[in-house]
Amino acid sequence: MKTDFLLIGQGLAGTVLSWRLLAQGHRVHLVDTPGLQKSSRVAAGLYNPITGRKMVKTWAADLHFPAIEPFYRSMEERLGQRFLEPKPIYRPFLNVEEQNEWMGHSSRDEFRRYLLEIRTTSRYEAVNDPYGGVLLDQCGYLNIPNLLDAYAAWLEEEGLLTREVFDESKLTFHSKGVAYGDIEARSIVYTNGLGAMESRYFSWLPFRPVRGEILSVAQSFSPDEIINRGVFRITLSGGLHRVGSTYDNNDLDSGATEKGKSELLEKLRALINPPLTAIHKHEWGIRPATKDRKPFLGRHPSHNQLYIFNGLGAKGVSMAPYLSIEMSNLLTFNKEPSKEVNINRFFKYI
Ligand SMILES: Cc1cc2nc3c(=O)[nH]c(=O)nc-3n(C[C@H](O)[C@H](O)[C@H](O)COP(=O)(O)OP(=O)(O)OC[C@H]3O[C@@H](n4cnc5c(N)ncnc54)[C@H](O)[C@@H]3O)c2cc1C
Repeated sequence: MKTDFLLIGQGLAGTVLSWRLLAQGHRVHLVDTPGLQKSSRVAAGLYNPITGRKMVKTWAADLHFPAIEPFYRSMEERLGQRFLEPKPIYRPFLNVEEQNEWMGHSSRDEFRRYLLEIRTTSRYEAVNDPYGGVLLDQCGYLNIPNLLDAYAAWLEEEGLLTREVFDESKLTFHSKGVAYGDIEARSIVYTNGLGAMESRYFSWLPFRPVRGEILSVAQSFSPDEIINRGVFRITLSGGLHRVGSTYDNNDLDSGATEKGKSELLEKLRALINPPLTAIHKHEWGIRPATKDRKPFLGRHPSHNQLYIFNGLGAKGVSMAPYLSIEMSNLLTFNKEPSKEVNINRFFKYI
């Protein structure tokens, strides 16, 4: 079998990059075994341009956010299902100082495009928001598991997906490309999340995995908006909500813990008043995050046919569509990715 690009891993990274390449008319083939890494499978899929306790504009938001909707809508059109749910995020203020700060932000161009409304009084009785809050625009969530499943089914129908564990020892390089089993490709791209840490070619990259836990709970009060302060709560259907997430980069092996659950419940109680009626699911995964919190895009320094598209960390949904343009420019026009994401920033580690 001959192809242009062989991608290893069909999480969000492999899905987005392969779709971008197909849309440009290239041939792709993917090798994936779901569940070896399960970051995309448990992620809430939130995208939010204003993040963190200090509520700052997220890195490169003005570049990344305009690419989100057109990209995922193009996949929806082909796959005949809806995955992207744009929803405002309501972020209650912590105190009067924060309220004043945001009144100031509202007149600044850099924030205005992401703001729908600033309130100085409570918006909801069910929310602990005595100082009001800010309603953010260009936010929402992507149903990543449904997107991955629908796309995998389509890839399989087209004969573009091999379900197996990729065995790197079987990969060979030759002057015009790579060979893996009966697949010959011009180039190979590692889109295998934390699986790349085991690779003899990419283990030098400074990954910094971060374990995260997330709950699905039943609770009354189902606004259209996502509520976010300390934790986010996304309204699903039937009175269910997604509540997340924890961040832990020390204890990676513990799975879903009582400590993680208590942390989420405590933060949820501080934010939303009605009591929970049930906890339906308690899930966990490990984010493919990096030491400098920027993704890994680039070509291996000694093998011209070997590439990586990885390190999406906690923000894969918002970063992947734009970064897949940078990656396809490298793969097809030999145009280097921007320096903040280019793996050549770590060549000194080899
Ligand atoms: C609790 C939690 C909450 C999150 N919430 C959000 C959120 O709200 N918004 C957001 O944008 N991001 C969120 N994320 C992060 C998001 O999941 C990642 O940014 C993104 O999904 C990573 O995608 P990936 O494809 O790089 O990696 P993965 O999802 O890990 O995919 C890698 C794929 O490669 C496969 N693979 C690996 N090795 C091999 C091999 N040897 N052979 C075959 N297949 C292989 C794996 O099985 C998997 O299918 C969250 C993550 C967690 C854990």
